[in-house]
Amino acid sequence: MRNRPSSVHPLSIEEVFVLLQQIKEVIQEYLAYSSVVRPIIFWNLTGRCNLSCQHCYNSSGPDLEADTELSTKEALSFIDDCAELSVPVILFSGGEPLLRPDL
Ligand code: SF4
Repeated sequence: MRNRPSSVHPLSIEEVFVLLQQIKEVIQEYLAYSSVVRPIIFWNLTGRCNLSCQHCYNSSGPDLEADTELSTKEALSFIDDCAELSVPVILFSGGEPLLRPDL
């Protein structure tokens, strides 16, 4: 790559395409399931919560029903699936996860 002044158009369009291709290759290589990089699971166990904050990204609240949640059996099966896929971390979130009677 040529040295250019950093003020205006530091890369040509051809250089941008080359860079994008390299980024694509890195993403394809490292975001696939592998022994090196594995997904982390953020699991909203429930939408129920003691509070009903306006800023809640999950629209959680005390009036929500549990009918859309995984059952205990389904949840344990999902955890087994994650273990089989070598998922290194599961982050339990919600809502308030401790409102589940099985926790
Ligand atoms: S999950 Fe958190 S942000 Fe959402 S209503 Fe409950 S306490 Fe508030």
